[in-house]
Amino acid sequence: MKNFFKAGVCLMGLLGLTGLVCGGCRGAEPERVQNTDTAMGTVVQQNLYVRSGGEKEAEEILKLLRGLEEQQLSRRLEGSEVWNVNAAAGSEEGCPVSADLEALLEDCLSLWKQSEGAFDVTLGEVIALWDMDGWALGEREGVFTPPDEETLQDALGRCGSGRLELAEGRLFLPEGMKLDLGAVGKGAALDCLLGYLAESEKITGAVISVGGSVLTYGDKPDGSPWKVGIRDPRDSSANMGVLTLEGQWCVSTSGDYERFVEVDGVRYHHILDPATGRPADSGTAGVTVLSKSGFDSDALSTACFILGPEKGMELAERYGVEVLFVGTDGSIQMSPGMEAYFRD
Ligand code: ADP
Ligand code: MG
Repeated sequence: MKNFFKAGVCLMGLLGLTGLVCGGCRGAEPERVQNTDTAMGTVVQQNLYVRSGGEKEAEEILKLLRGLEEQQLSRRLEGSEVWNVNAAAGSEEGCPVSADLEALLEDCLSLWKQSEGAFDVTLGEVIALWDMDGWALGEREGVFTPPDEETLQDALGRCGSGRLELAEGRLFLPEGMKLDLGAVGKGAALDCLLGYLAESEKITGAVISVGGSVLTYGDKPDGSPWKVGIRDPRDSSANMGVLTLEGQWCVSTSGDYERFVEVDGVRYHHILDPATGRPADSGTAGVTVLSKSGFDSDALSTACFILGPEKGMELAERYGVEVLFVGTDGSIQMSPGMEAYFRD
């Protein structure tokens, strides 16, 4: 930033000396770069404002997201840290984890406690049983049938963050337990991108969405605020409203419309209540969390979806984030602080 201004001032000084009038100097205004692609199993949309030389930044950002998925977070890709941890479940030596993953897991464990168990990244076995991703993405053939109660209880018996041991860079997962970081992966990705943006001298402003998690950063050349729409859970072409934001924010939405199947009028979706092993049923269709942290916005949107408005609102307050609930009846409830940003 500083260097850019210095260079700009020097250049203008030089031109002033030689008495030239240079229309091209206005080229220093950041240009908009748009990019839509996929990473982390979802759609990534980027709207960047970049200085000259920043045209390849969108590709760098995609590389970063794909690296995070492949090296750390994926439970499907062999060799990722989460894959290694799951493969080592039950072993006496546990599995070494990077400082980044250890910190992420510490945050997950503390939210597990704060949410009274509603948020639980050890639900992997139950999540696999429902395989809502597979059904919703059309990877599964035949007719969807929910798992039977006995199978569900058996899988639930192998879950529980309280049985996780994390010590000195090693994670000990009991036999039969599987980690699933689907509820925080995109938020962790936003935090990683915010670190990248802070270091970047080429990007002056950005809105980047990774699935249902969005970050805003910096500003637009015309000085107008960022606008982030909150989708109507029952109409993919309509918004419940818009958040107007200045500078750096993270906004995550968890909804029962992201990945679901409907059978005989019953909607089975991908956010599970650890108390039952079944899709959470708190009268909520969507929850949006606004925070300075990607982790908090993503993890709390999932946790609040399971807890529902009453307990969810308390949890959000404890974490110092703003929250907005859309009920299955279309009603809206939000934290008092959210009102300053939300317009319908
Ligand atoms: P999305 O991934 O669609 O943005 P969320 O952030 O709400 O939505 O995360 C949902 C994902 O989190 C599920 O697909 C699953 O992998 C995982 N998950 C489901 N239930 C829970 C839960 N109770 N606690 C933690 N993770 C969960
Ligand atoms: Mg989430």
